[in-house]
Amino acid sequence: MPPHGWYYRLSRFFKERFGEKVYKIPLHAGLSCPNRDGTVSTGGCIYCYNPGFSPATAPAGANEASPASIREQIIRFQARAEKKDGAPKKGSESQEKGPEETAFQPARRYLAYFQTYSNTYGELSRLQTLYEEALHTPGIIGLSVATRPDCLFPEVLELLQAYARSHHIWLELGLQSAHDRTLELINRGHTYARFVEAVLKSKDRGILVCAHIINGLPGESRKEMLQTAARINSLPVNGIKFHQLQVIRETPLEDLFMSGGVKPLNEKEYLHIVCDQLEIMCSNIVVHRLMSEVTCPGLLAAPLWPVSRAQFTQMVENELKRRRSHQGIKYTPAKK
Ligand code: SF4
Repeated sequence: MPPHGWYYRLSRFFKERFGEKVYKIPLHAGLSCPNRDGTVSTGGCIYCYNPGFSPATAPAGANEASPASIREQIIRFQARAEKKDGAPKKGSESQEKGPEETAFQPARRYLAYFQTYSNTYGELSRLQTLYEEALHTPGIIGLSVATRPDCLFPEVLELLQAYARSHHIWLELGLQSAHDRTLELINRGHTYARFVEAVLKSKDRGILVCAHIINGLPGESRKEMLQTAARINSLPVNGIKFHQLQVIRETPLEDLFMSGGVKPLNEKEYLHIVCDQLEIMCSNIVVHRLMSEVTCPGLLAAPLWPVSRAQFTQMVENELKRRRSHQGIKYTPAKK
């Protein structure tokens, strides 16, 4: 068995670093995206429908334009998570009072995950207020900030670098594909070179970088998907999040799907590609996720797989065992 198991799970990484489980709290900060607000484009990426991936932390009735406060979203998540897993109580949670007023004290460690849209895109003072609201909420040990490679402005990087001196900070950078033809086709609004630049700007700052990739993008072959994984190996990237292409209703991708312009991978095809990618991926790269799940019922047009994320995780382990393989078994360091 390799040192990090069949593949290097995020849960293992947290256990090694903090000695216990760390929970990520998905947050909606009410920020926007330059690929939707007209700065880069108005259409967005062809698969993008953010509410499909939005955190389940917003209270009923909260809408996209006015999400609950960061602190409120965090406390709601913590209270739910600790009630569910029976964490030892450090305080009491009153049903009568609002979450801001409760004496609830989390017993676990959490990362505040700024997930929805581009979370480094906004006035610096606004970003600072949002990040610090999270960092000052009990139980939060750091941030995970999802964004685009073209939204990493020097002042935001300096801010995250300063937090990284006392907190655990991840930057989650959307790459999706290392092929510019594909990036253009899906209307990403940036190139692979822009992603490389963003990764290099983030290194040596104490910030950990996680790359997001999507398998099954229109027109991409298995070989191209493996090339994307291989190129990530050549960069100072600390983590990876795998996604399968999902066709969300009312997106431009749905039109392409309906016209036969894209055929999403089935779960077995995806399984084999992810295992192939894991084999060539450096064993020190932390795997944050192996597949995506859409949380809003009815939003997903395709692919409708009969497997949950937990079942897929087991399938990946079984496949790697069957191959007598593991993450990094075919890793070749990039030539300097
Ligand atoms: S960068 Fe993210 S939020 Fe912006 S359009 Fe693309 S998927 Fe949507």
